[in-house]
Amino acid sequence: MLDAVADRISIYQPEQPGLIFPEIPKFASFAEEREYRKRHLVAATRAFALHGFDYGFAGHLTVRDPERPELYWTNPMCVRFSDVRMSNLVLADHSGNVVEGRHAINRAGFVLHSAVHDAHPDVMAMCHAHTTYGTAWCATGRPLDMLSQDAACFYGNHAVIGASAGAVAVEKESGLSIAAQIGKYRGVLHQNHGLLTTSRHSIDDAAFWFIALERCCRVQLQVEASGIKPQLLSDKTAQYSLDHVGNDFIGWLHFQTIYNQLVESQPDMFD
Ligand SMILES: [Zn+2]
Repeated sequence: MLDAVADRISIYQPEQPGLIFPEIPKFASFAEEREYRKRHLVAATRAFALHGFDYGFAGHLTVRDPERPELYWTNPMCVRFSDVRMSNLVLADHSGNVVEGRHAINRAGFVLHSAVHDAHPDVMAMCHAHTTYGTAWCATGRPLDMLSQDAACFYGNHAVIGASAGAVAVEKESGLSIAAQIGKYRGVLHQNHGLLTTSRHSIDDAAFWFIALERCCRVQLQVEASGIKPQLLSDKTAQYSLDHVGNDFIGWLHFQTIYNQLVESQPDMFD
């Protein structure tokens, strides 16, 4: 529980003491923190499975190691999101070498993720997958309209990247050309490709905003398909919502709901 109101970083945290509410954990050792990050990385991949984000071997999620931030943990190549577990996670370096784990890593994943992690030392985690609605909206080459409070979480915090549009990122240069842009924003819509999210906070935060971004793309496609001209949020309202429900703590907080559900329903995550 929070000790004092002074500890509050979000208006969502209860002022009344003694109530059950998720707390960001504190760690006594790197080993503890590594265990936490790995568990939440597995949960993030399982959450992607629940949302139907699998597309063959495409899609990769990464989180830095707490002790050796030049290394990152990621999901194994050619393992369905629903089969990712603690024992098959892979620890890789920025040259694409597997430092720990038996599985190979995704070549495009390593190119993209290592370039972003390299260009932005403060980026903690990153997610990418080939989702249906994200891919569809990314074909338009347009940023999201501020259609809803949920879309406002990406107000001024997402970008469309046209460079290397539609070209698979397997060469190092392609990763470098877009990496500088990717880490600047919560969400990136890579034209003719798909969605990416990054977080300076946690894999929980990156994963939740990925799910949210896919949903925003779906909503926008549905609104456009209706043919009805939507009412948009004003800049002031979008900024207000961003300030209150669009920060990285809120992304982490949203994800705890999904994490707790997965802990109960999929205990094999931790094998
Ligand atoms: Zn991709």
